[in-house]
Amino acid sequence: MHVGIIGAGIGGLATASGLAANGHRVTVLERVERTSPVGSGLSLFGNAVTALDALGLGDAVRAISGGSVATLRAGQRRPDGRWIATIPPDALPHLRVVHRAELHEVLLGSLPRGTLRVGTEVTGITEVDAGVTLATPAGELGGFDLVVAADGIRSRTRASWPGDPGVRYSGYSTWRGVTREPVDLHGEAGETWGNGLRFGLAPLADGRVYWFGVATLPEGTVFDDELGELRRRFEGWHDPIAALIDATEPDAIARHDIHDLAGPVPTFVRGRVALLGDAAHAMTPDLGQGGGQALEDAATLVQLLGPATTAGTALDPTKIDPAHIDAALARYNTLRRARTQPIARRARMLGRLAQTRGAVRTRIRDLVIGATPASVLRRQLADLQDWTPPHA
Ligand SMILES: Cc1cc2nc3c(=O)[nH]c(=O)nc-3n(C[C@H](O)[C@H](O)[C@H](O)COP(=O)(O)OP(=O)(O)OC[C@H]3O[C@@H](n4cnc5c(N)ncnc54)[C@H](O)[C@@H]3O)c2cc1C
Repeated sequence: MHVGIIGAGIGGLATASGLAANGHRVTVLERVERTSPVGSGLSLFGNAVTALDALGLGDAVRAISGGSVATLRAGQRRPDGRWIATIPPDALPHLRVVHRAELHEVLLGSLPRGTLRVGTEVTGITEVDAGVTLATPAGELGGFDLVVAADGIRSRTRASWPGDPGVRYSGYSTWRGVTREPVDLHGEAGETWGNGLRFGLAPLADGRVYWFGVATLPEGTVFDDELGELRRRFEGWHDPIAALIDATEPDAIARHDIHDLAGPVPTFVRGRVALLGDAAHAMTPDLGQGGGQALEDAATLVQLLGPATTAGTALDPTKIDPAHIDAALARYNTLRRARTQPIARRARMLGRLAQTRGAVRTRIRDLVIGATPASVLRRQLADLQDWTPPHA
């Protein structure tokens, strides 16, 4: 089977890796020349690690993430450093934090040579009897048995489908950075919640720290002095927040407005085209699950399609029975919508809570969070992390 994948983000590369390992022919088309993201980290919760294991990538990712960060004291703090709530250490046994660029290197390194074509934008998709054809500025590429559209939150593929909910602004914007050198966190990580402001930090394998600062802002806000604004907003917050900002190259700090999909996508599959990752279910980053869900999508699709020899004919073992592909896509659609859409809703609700504004409301929020029993937190985290790929 020949699979065309649009987009070389986490979702597209992980899918390509798993399908290629199963003997399928895969072509990934990426519009930009540079595929490696710069300067930020990514949390991988237990479910993301399970998906990576299913794709045969778990050990390689464990090697770049060092140990689990579950040994750290984590949870939510007040800007003065007092803890509002801590997460029971046994609730996050597999959580890891990686540098995004290093994760990309692992994913790219797992692909057979010649799989990825950079600088190739897909401008159209046509389904014909002989398979799916992709249009690019350089001409048409045809003969795909299946196309996976992993083309991100602003997916051109999804936008062309009926019922596309479109993208909405969350109300907040995020600065992100990785320190240039290790910074001692004294065994503490997690988030600090203020009044319409939030700061998060987590150590990478080599002791450098991935951090983010979130501010409630009108969409499209531009500051003349971004670094000055960041410093000013988190001035007086507990250690080592100011030190982390100082320990980061100013030009390695970027700010992005946060968006998600304005509602659920009615279907992830049309004919022989499947949406995957942010294209299907972009969510706000408040649960640290967007990338994890893209990895789950990839592991699910790879598992359901099975190895190249499944239902292959004696004449051409690389060609899978069409009914098998259709059945796999139908199950992918059912399983992945049911799993991802409630998580996207939860992420948005948590983001609203974390970005609460006003002294009284903030105080009430902190009291409620602080009073949440450990058993409830454990159950909520287990819902997210207890996931296994389906049987084919
Ligand atoms: C601030 C922030 C923090 C986050 N933190 C976490 C976290 O801690 N843990 C976690 O799991 N997730 C996190 N996420 C979410 C995570 O980054 C995304 O869910 C994930 O990167 C989505 O991957 P993707 O492959 O679906 O899409 P993308 O990474 O967006 O990749 C899509 C690719 O498709 C390419 N493309 C688009 N259109 C075309 C076209 N027409 N032709 C060819 N190529 C095309 C793009 O250039 C891009 O390379 C965070 C997100 C944000 C914004």
